[in-house]
Amino acid sequence: MNIQAAVLYEPNTPFTIETLTLDEPRQGEALVRIAACGVCHSDYHLVSGATRHPMPVVCGHEGAGVVEAVGPRVDSVRPGDHVVLNWAPACGRCFYCQHDQPNLCATFTEPIWAGTMLDGTPRLHRNGDPVYHYCGLASFAEYVVVPQQSCIHIRQDVPLKAASLVGCAAATGVGAAMYTARVRPGDSVAVFGCGGVGLNTIQGAALCGAALIIAVDVNEAKLALARQFGATHTIRSDDNALQAIRDLTGGRGADHTFEAVGLPALQELAFAAARPGGTVVLEGLSPMGSNTNLPGAIITRTEKTIKGSYYGSVNPPRDFPLLLDLYMAGRLKLDELVSREYRLDQINGAFDAMLMGEVARGVIVFG
Ligand SMILES: [Zn+2]
Ligand SMILES: [Zn+2]
Repeated sequence: MNIQAAVLYEPNTPFTIETLTLDEPRQGEALVRIAACGVCHSDYHLVSGATRHPMPVVCGHEGAGVVEAVGPRVDSVRPGDHVVLNWAPACGRCFYCQHDQPNLCATFTEPIWAGTMLDGTPRLHRNGDPVYHYCGLASFAEYVVVPQQSCIHIRQDVPLKAASLVGCAAATGVGAAMYTARVRPGDSVAVFGCGGVGLNTIQGAALCGAALIIAVDVNEAKLALARQFGATHTIRSDDNALQAIRDLTGGRGADHTFEAVGLPALQELAFAAARPGGTVVLEGLSPMGSNTNLPGAIITRTEKTIKGSYYGSVNPPRDFPLLLDLYMAGRLKLDELVSREYRLDQINGAFDAMLMGEVARGVIVFG
C-alpha cells in the first residue's frame, strides 16, 4: 500500500513528507493504522546526528493506533485491537527476558538498531529503494508494519492520543521513579529537566508517595507544569540549584535524583545533589560518545548508587495497561502533557517548538 510518512534523508536536514510503499505484514508482524504519535527528543537525535542510524529513515516511536491486519503466526493481537507501540520488543526467552529485564532484551537489539524488522529487512520503500524504520516502529506515518512484540494491546476506552504518550515519555518517566529508583513513601526526590520524561518522573514519584519532590529547570513555564504534576518545590536551574536542594533536605541532598535531559553537566549536578547513600538515576539519553565526570573517590566514600534507566525499567506488556488504568482512574496525567497537536505535514514546526522548550509534549495526530 502507499502511505504518507515523514522521511529523514540525512542529518541536519528537515523532514519531508513523502509517499512511501509499505509492504504487507509478514510472519509475526502486524499492520497498524497510527492515530497519534508523540514528538520525542530521541527522534531529534537522528536529526542532529547524536544517534547514528541507516538512512533514509522514518522516525517516530511514541505511537498508538488500531491493528488493521496481521501476518501469519500472529497470536497476540487481532484486527480491531487498540495498541500502544513498544520500542523495545522482547523475545521472552533470552537471558535478560528471563531475568525480568525485558527492556534489555538481547535478541531483537540488532535488527531494531539496523532499522529493519526482526528478519533483517525493511517493509518501507521509495521507488524500490529501502527506507528504514526507527526503533522498528517508524510511526511518523499513517500506517506502520511492526513486529507483534511491539504491539501492546490496551483497553478500548482509552483515547489513543493519551495512550500514545505511554509508549515513551510516561513509561520512561514513571518507570524510572517506580522501578529503577523504587521511590518509597516519604522519600525526597529531585528531578532535573521538566520535559515529557521529567514531568512523568515527577508524577511517578508522587504516585510512589514521595514527600518532597523538587523540580529543576531553566524554563519557568515548565516549572509551573511541574507543580501541576506533583512537584512540591521548584528551582530555576542556575548556580544556586545545588545549595537550594541541600537547604530543602537538611543539608544532605535528596534520596533520589533523576537527570531527564541527557546533558553531562546536568548529570554531574544530579550526582552532587544526591545524599550520601542516595541514588542517581540517568534517564535522559546523552549523545553517543559524550563524557560525564562521576568521581570514583566520592562514589566510594559516599556510597552513592548511579543507575541507568532505559525505558523506565518497565515491562511493556505488564506496565502499559497498568499506566492506562491509572490514567482512567484519574491518577496519572496524560492529557495535560499534550501542549500542542500537529498534522504530519507540520512535523518540522513540532520539532522547532520542542527545541525552543515551548511544549511539554507535541503530538502528531492523524485524521
Ligand atoms: Zn522517546
Ligand atoms: Zn529477550
